Amino acid sequence: MLKINNLHVKLEEEDKQILKGLSLEVPAGQVHAIMGPNGSGKSTLSYVLSGRDGYEVTEGGATMDGEDLLEMEPEERAAAGLFLAFQYPVEIPGVGNMTFLRTAVNAQRKARGQEEISSGEFLKVIRAKAAELQIDADMLKRPVNVGFSGGEKKRNEILQMAMLEPRMCIMDETDSGLDVDAMRLVADGVNALRSPDRSFLVITHYQRLLNHIQPDVVHIMSNGRIVKTGGPDLALQVEDEGYGDLLAEAG
Ligand code: ADP
Ligand code: MG
Ligand code: MG
Repeated sequence: MLKINNLHVKLEEEDKQILKGLSLEVPAGQVHAIMGPNGSGKSTLSYVLSGRDGYEVTEGGATMDGEDLLEMEPEERAAAGLFLAFQYPVEIPGVGNMTFLRTAVNAQRKARGQEEISSGEFLKVIRAKAAELQIDADMLKRPVNVGFSGGEKKRNEILQMAMLEPRMCIMDETDSGLDVDAMRLVADGVNALRSPDRSFLVITHYQRLLNHIQPDVVHIMSNGRIVKTGGPDLALQVEDEGYGDLLAEAG
């Protein structure tokens, strides 16, 4: 599914190398976690994969289903089935949540060469999915994320994910700043969307989210690279011992 190979990325504006040879592979149906200390380049990785401006790939690359991901426009990435959830969801004043979602769904369908979804069908689908996530009609009508609580933003993000039915979901510290209930909601949302043809890359500083989303593989990232890969127990080791010993041991 997602394959990142020896990825080197620097900032365009400054001569600062952030990713320094990062490699990892997420097969279909698996949940991988990336953990690592602040400043190790986790968010930069998710930005580069999403196609955000300001970064230059100086070596290596990333593919999805064998296609060069980094050559694609952001819309093409979405059409290919990539979804990114960020630490700080954007607020879009003046644009109703429902309108936003419908535009996103249709943009994705267009890029896939499919017809627009009819309003009747869209309403049916969004109502069903919103009900599953305990999102009320009012939240669907309000401007995207404006005045939403932390928990509401997260539920909304899971709703976006459920509507776009991505195949590769990347979540960057979706858990930070959430109380236990909101975190549970994110985890339940992810767990409900797990399937043999959908993969997740869950980026998190803390172990606690991984108590609720059981990863297949855990990667430890430091200084722009993956320095250690293991099973779910690796996350527990981070919780017990912190990053210090692990990183020292990895060199
Ligand atoms: P993480 O998400 O793991 O905390 P980031 O990807 O946010 O790490 O940042 C990695 C490193 O790159 C940090 O040292 C950060 O200060 C630096 N960095 C990221 N973006 C910028 C930027 N736009 N300008 C200057 N430094 C940046
Ligand atoms: Mg950070
Ligand atoms: Mg970050």
